[in-house]
Amino acid sequence: MSACRSGPRRHTCTDRPRTTLAPAGPVRATHPSYVWSRPLSARRIDLHTHSTASDGTTEPGELVLQARLAGLDVVALTDHDTTSGWAPAAASRPEGLALVRGAEISCSRGGISLHLLAYLFDAEEPDLAARLAALVDSRVHRAERMVALLTADGAGVTWERVRQLAGGTVGRPHVAQALIEQGHVSTVSEAFTPEWIGTHGRYWVGKLELDVVEAVGLVVRAGGAAVFAHPAARRRGRTVTDDVITEMAAAGLAGLEVDHVDHDAQARADLRALAADLDLVTTGSSDYHGTNKTVQLAANLTPESSYEAIVERATGVPVLGP
Ligand code: AMP
Ligand code: ZN
Ligand code: FE
Ligand code: FE
Repeated sequence: MSACRSGPRRHTCTDRPRTTLAPAGPVRATHPSYVWSRPLSARRIDLHTHSTASDGTTEPGELVLQARLAGLDVVALTDHDTTSGWAPAAASRPEGLALVRGAEISCSRGGISLHLLAYLFDAEEPDLAARLAALVDSRVHRAERMVALLTADGAGVTWERVRQLAGGTVGRPHVAQALIEQGHVSTVSEAFTPEWIGTHGRYWVGKLELDVVEAVGLVVRAGGAAVFAHPAARRRGRTVTDDVITEMAAAGLAGLEVDHVDHDAQARADLRALAADLDLVTTGSSDYHGTNKTVQLAANLTPESSYEAIVERATGVPVLGP
């Protein structure tokens, strides 16, 4: 095992499992400094997952079961622009797993698409609910237009099939699955290229997105806590400057998602420093999408202190479970 650079006294690394006691899931890696310094109560917390309510491939009720099997104590369900997975996830939540109800909101700034994680907000709050409904509606129209462009070129992809593939909020991964079925690409990722439906690609159509600073305000007013999702995921496209994050912080942002599969070590270090400057918490999460992506549940974890700060700020709906 490689040495941990954090050292035993200041152990904040969340890349590895955090507990060595009474594992609820698979055998964890151990590290002497964890045993020495970690609070005995440290929970395994994953605050970013997708179900079939958006572009994941796991039903919400199945996802909570898988989360527990993956050894998680806390999981957040954060489907794109929708809360439709909340009820089935809550109904199947296993004892011992805390469920954080959330969403990942489609946002932008200066033509750059961005994602905002919203936790524990009141889904009935009229302003936010109306904006989320508009985002979902726009996703339908843009997917129809992408299908029309593909059809015009004889790709054999139909709207009926894409609609069928999307159990909830429709997204590009559903169009990608239809492209796989037609034999045009062999993986979802291959569809996210300029030849197909990659951003600004040949068959790509943009969708409605909320201004990212305005969205932070909407989430806060709905009693939620907002965390900027994968702020430095450069391989997805352009990312915003620290100035925008500073504006988001002023609007009430709670944290930055730092430990994410799309962030390299340098990006993580930069984001941690920025979070410290702006007094934001840092989170780590898998961004699990079932078989639409390779990342697994619990691939990254959130420190207990960040989780507690998020829960403390939110007043919209409670965490379900322990
Ligand atoms: P959409 O929100 O409909 O524009 O689709 C974007 C979603 O597709 C993102 O939220 C990701 O979950 C997923 N995605 C983006 N890039 C890729 C990729 N290269 N491979 C697989 N999934 C991707
Ligand atoms: Zn997604
Ligand atoms: Fe995202
Ligand atoms: Fe996501």
